[in-house]
Amino acid sequence: MVGLVGFRGLIHAASVEVTVSSDVSASASVAQAAIRTEVLIIGAGPCGLFQVFELGLLGIGAHIVDSLARPGGQCTELYPEKPIYDIPALPVCGAQELVERLLEQIKPFKAQMHLGQEVTAFAAREDGRFDVQTVTGTRFDAGAVVLAAGVGSFQPRRIGLEGAEAFEGSAIHYRVKDSASLHGQQLVVFGGGDSALDWTLELAPKARSLTLVHRRHEFRAAPASVARMRDLVSAGRMRCFEGLPESLIVADGELRGVNIKLLDGTSPAVHALEAQKLLVFFGLHPKLGPIAEWGLELERKALKVDTEKFQTSVPGVFAVGDINTYPGKKKLILSGFHEAALAAFAIQHHLYPQKKQFLQYTTTSPIMHQRLGVPD
Ligand SMILES: Cc1cc2nc3c(=O)[nH]c(=O)nc-3n(C[C@H](O)[C@H](O)[C@H](O)COP(=O)(O)OP(=O)(O)OC[C@H]3O[C@@H](n4cnc5c(N)ncnc54)[C@H](O)[C@@H]3O)c2cc1C
Repeated sequence: MVGLVGFRGLIHAASVEVTVSSDVSASASVAQAAIRTEVLIIGAGPCGLFQVFELGLLGIGAHIVDSLARPGGQCTELYPEKPIYDIPALPVCGAQELVERLLEQIKPFKAQMHLGQEVTAFAAREDGRFDVQTVTGTRFDAGAVVLAAGVGSFQPRRIGLEGAEAFEGSAIHYRVKDSASLHGQQLVVFGGGDSALDWTLELAPKARSLTLVHRRHEFRAAPASVARMRDLVSAGRMRCFEGLPESLIVADGELRGVNIKLLDGTSPAVHALEAQKLLVFFGLHPKLGPIAEWGLELERKALKVDTEKFQTSVPGVFAVGDINTYPGKKKLILSGFHEAALAAFAIQHHLYPQKKQFLQYTTTSPIMHQRLGVPD
């Protein structure tokens, strides 16, 4: 039996300020009542979203949680603009377009999404249900759990300077929670992608000073944003350096700035920048994280499942998409969709073992039409 893994840490974490959450607006320090659900899906990537659909067709409701602030998993975070060519019946489909189509498809089932919340605690109960909790304190009481957690939860790449940890969340930020708190401040922004450029353009007119630091002359961000940033530099409204963070400048326990190592051949190579706040946008990297500690059988960082039910080593806990492994597994969206369909039937049997199961076609089933909200 899986124990109360992670709950001790969470009691502590529940008192921190909430970042992005559709459930909690200010602070999660007050214990909330657990949300009772037939199924909890962890991960709102393409496979988690399609799991909502397959469960919905069978009349089973779900809540879905993701550590990211928006649904879509790898498609949205890693390659939103790229075309996908191997989705059945869609000769070509943009990755973000696929996510939007899935969101449209699951609309009739009204699954509540809990975004910006990493699931960190999981416990199988004696009565066969599951207690699950997110880092912001949202609690679930679920009849079954589907792990659709892909390659893990995406974490920001950290600045990696000595002493930085002490300032993370106060003077060093990896995402902007409250942009108004940055107005009138001396800011240094690190990064060259869309997040770095979007926040640079947003904050440059409102900050006391803003300096953008990127390791190369070329930027990954949208060319129009880069052009606007260069215009601001030409107009003397902000500065831009080619460099890397070298060390923090700290006095009396407060962050006063950052030394950067210039990479454009300028001498001296280290340059000090005054700053009250550092905004670091070095991208995200996936981490299997807490799921690896929940006592579920793993094989090379993936959850072992059977190919009939896509159930893990714990009855009632299923895994679909990139997170699972079985003989012949291929990490493709198409495979995850198939897994979600079979897992839905297995979940129905797990929740309602007395219920007779039979296959219905969406083309002809009146009950499925009713669930889909389409007229007969
Ligand atoms: C560049 C690139 C191109 C690709 N092209 C194709 C292609 O052409 N065709 C194809 O079939 N596949 C392609 N893939 C692979 C495809 O994107 C994946 O197979 C697919 O995204 C897997 O979906 P998923 O829902 O299983 O997981 P993911 O998309 O990884 O989503 C998992 C979600 O779970 C969340 N999560 C994880 N842990 C937690 C936690 N503890 N708490 C809360 N949330 C959590 C994550 O934040 C994430 O949003 C490509 C991948 C890449 C990187």
